[in-house]
Amino acid sequence: MHGTESRFAREASVPVEAQRALIRRFAVANLAEQGYPAGEIARLLGVARERVQRDLRRRFHEETRARFVREWAASALLVARLQRRDANHRRRARERGNHVERVRLAEIVVRDEATCYLCGDVIVPGELHFDHVVPIARGGAHAAENLRATHARCNQSKGSR
Ligand SMILES: [Zn+2]
Repeated sequence: MHGTESRFAREASVPVEAQRALIRRFAVANLAEQGYPAGEIARLLGVARERVQRDLRRRFHEETRARFVREWAASALLVARLQRRDANHRRRARERGNHVERVRLAEIVVRDEATCYLCGDVIVPGELHFDHVVPIARGGAHAAENLRATHARCNQSKGSR
């Protein structure tokens, strides 16, 4: 009972602007599915064409992300490759005396929705790296809470900063 009340409280507290944005995105998605081009959708909804294009890009990302998460979760080969990589991370952390936990990297990909936490874009399988938020070199744990899915390129540019 308490849980239901607090859920309603949360929903009621969603700002009007955010509610409008949700409704707009829903309308944009529906019209796009019916084959309306961006310019026509913008005219029908009375919003800027750039706004419609941003909504459509975002929807594309959400769809690709959902597909990648399913593919990641389903691929035994990828999971095996990830677990080998995990063994390397574990060994490095153990050599330094850091806290080490057994991690299922495939579960981290699913948890992070195959999304790079450094740039926010979808990660395709060949691009995947894992970043230790607190680096192993600075005593960071090899544990799920300290790991994030990233692109290889984003992780490398973070390392060179
Ligand atoms: Zn990235």
